[in-house]
Amino acid sequence: MKQKLIRATELAEFVYCSKAWHLKYLDGAEVSHVARELQAEANTWHIEQGRSLARGDQLPLGSFRRPDVGDYPHCLLLVGMGEMTVLLMAATAMVLALLFFWLSARSRRKTGIPAGEVFYQDLVGQPFTARNLRSLKLGISGKPDCLIRTADGIVPVELKKSKRPPARGEVYPNHMIQNLAYCALVEEQLGEQVPYDLVIYAGQQVRRVEFTDSNRKWLMDTIAAVQAARLRKQANRNHNQRGRCSGCGVGDKCDQALG
Ligand code: SF4
Repeated sequence: MKQKLIRATELAEFVYCSKAWHLKYLDGAEVSHVARELQAEANTWHIEQGRSLARGDQLPLGSFRRPDVGDYPHCLLLVGMGEMTVLLMAATAMVLALLFFWLSARSRRKTGIPAGEVFYQDLVGQPFTARNLRSLKLGISGKPDCLIRTADGIVPVELKKSKRPPARGEVYPNHMIQNLAYCALVEEQLGEQVPYDLVIYAGQQVRRVEFTDSNRKWLMDTIAAVQAARLRKQANRNHNQRGRCSGCGVGDKCDQALG
């Protein structure tokens, strides 16, 4: 039987706690007021990140290309208007261009986004359109925060507001599976190599996840597990972490909570 595509964020919820996924996606349980507020806070943070990037990206030369004299050939045509005036105009334009370039690069550095052409962004306020990536073959869909064309290939980037980022070099499994889904979607939809993805915690801590064969297999196994749970109309808790239960947005409806 054909199933509705699984969103990358749904895969993340399933990995975080399959029982919570069951309550939200199969039973349609409402999340708590506190969880809704936290989500709203995270959305506001995302919007801020997007605006901060937009302020950089929308500046002239915002494609992060270093300006050079060749950007102003028209100035040369003005010779005759008064050489001193023209030279002053050209010098001012160069200084402004360098200033814009620096602001633009600083804005990007602040978010931890690596060098390369940003050609897709799902952040509010961006001049780039982001379409929902869908794959009938894989059975998944999703919108990455950002796609960057780097020297290594296309790199999906996900920004996470996190008060407690994981230990150095690590990525939470739910964030990892979400981004692996983006890697697979980009590879299939754009037909280009995706060597790895990045998760950026709190706008600064950049973590890299390689798109290896074992990660591809984990992604496919997780997609199959969600599809099977949908058919069974049932899923159970898949972790032993009390912390997840204490902060759970659907804990009051759960009969498997760790107390
Ligand atoms: S209370 Fe714990 S087991 Fe139940 S849904 Fe929430 S995180 Fe999962």
